[in-house]
Amino acid sequence: MVKNIFLALGLTLPLIGCVTTAPQVATTKNYSVDSDTYQSTGKSQRIKTIVLHYTVSDNERSIKTLTTGNVSAHYLILDKNDDKIYNLVPESERAWHAGEGGFTGRTILNDTSIGIEIVNAGIKPEYRDALKNGDMDYHPYEHYVAFDELQIKKVAQLVQDIARRYDISPKNIIGHADMAPSRKIDPGAKFPWERLYSEYGIGAWYDEVDKQYFMQQVQLATPTIREVKQAFRDYGYQMNTTDVWDKESRDVIYAFQLHFRPLKPTGIMDIETYAILKALNKKYAGRDDFY
Ligand SMILES: [Zn+2]
Repeated sequence: MVKNIFLALGLTLPLIGCVTTAPQVATTKNYSVDSDTYQSTGKSQRIKTIVLHYTVSDNERSIKTLTTGNVSAHYLILDKNDDKIYNLVPESERAWHAGEGGFTGRTILNDTSIGIEIVNAGIKPEYRDALKNGDMDYHPYEHYVAFDELQIKKVAQLVQDIARRYDISPKNIIGHADMAPSRKIDPGAKFPWERLYSEYGIGAWYDEVDKQYFMQQVQLATPTIREVKQAFRDYGYQMNTTDVWDKESRDVIYAFQLHFRPLKPTGIMDIETYAILKALNKKYAGRDDFY
């Protein structure tokens, strides 16, 4: 109705004498760019995070979705016995893979991340409806489809290369679930984060000795919900500040367990989960540059 407001008020716009002409845009150039004489020292890479995904479909459908729709990723790793990794979006451009969420204080992760999609079915077909009848809130380890060994090798080597080129900090190599725990569970419980750390030196992992130490500590003094939630925020998760373990905060626990205790992801806080979180915070303290 807004465009009719002038008519509604009995007003008319003066249309006569409104001949528009294109402005004369100046084309002369009175400058040259000198990139050599002075250089700043306060700078860093724009790419800060690597986000790993699974596609929940087969090769053909994954290619179609990621090349024709309005979702995309920088890299696609098919479930195929060859040495190819497909680069769908140049690293200098934004791919539309992350969506809403955040990690280590950054939101709008499409601006600052590289997205890698791995073709994998996600949850086994027979378990897809397992959460619908309300008997369970989260999929256990067995419900997830394993990744092909060659895919894992390719992902690991690609992430190794990207992390080195952009100097990405270990804890910023994450899964989609880590940054959007209430929306996403990929790359799921069968993505081998521990192997990536131990065999390829990629991403974050805790030291067992620290975990054991914190397990003892927790039994001496039980932390409050508030303290546990703060520990999640310290690591980088977007954890709410309520005093209860509501669904939203259990989603964060589940995402964390998928990543760091994949054999037993429950969405329920327990001593081992908290000890792992504390061990990670000890090892990866400090924040990125936010200048
Ligand atoms: Zn995803």
